[in-house]
Amino acid sequence: MIVEFRDDWQNFPCKEWQGSRTVFGYGRAGARGKGHAHREAWKEAHPDFMLSPKEFVMHACDNPPCYRIEHLGLGTAADNMADKEAKGRGNRKLRLSKDQIAQIYELADSGKSRNAIRKATGHGYSTVTRYLNERE
Ligand SMILES: [Zn+2]
Repeated sequence: MIVEFRDDWQNFPCKEWQGSRTVFGYGRAGARGKGHAHREAWKEAHPDFMLSPKEFVMHACDNPPCYRIEHLGLGTAADNMADKEAKGRGNRKLRLSKDQIAQIYELADSGKSRNAIRKATGHGYSTVTRYLNERE
């Protein structure tokens, strides 16, 4: 997982696209309405970066119509698949061992942020989030 989200993205509320949306719920924007609002927002914030078709602009918040720049991160196609799987939308669910899960809970109990846990354990942000949500 290469995608990096800001540590403090949860401090910012989602900004949902109010225009038309694609069947997947993404905001429809850009040239001839073929772009995605979140992708356009990311490009606008990084004007010197050439976004390739293999690179995905991903949501920390998992909210497709959101185009809040603080919630967006860049990932490769492989990351996008891994992220989908971790969020349970793929065919295969990622499973962690009991020890790995215990480690996540321990870090959470010591007051570490989800992003800090992700960095400490090497698991994806969404994996960490999923296990913490499952515990609650
Ligand atoms: Zn959002």
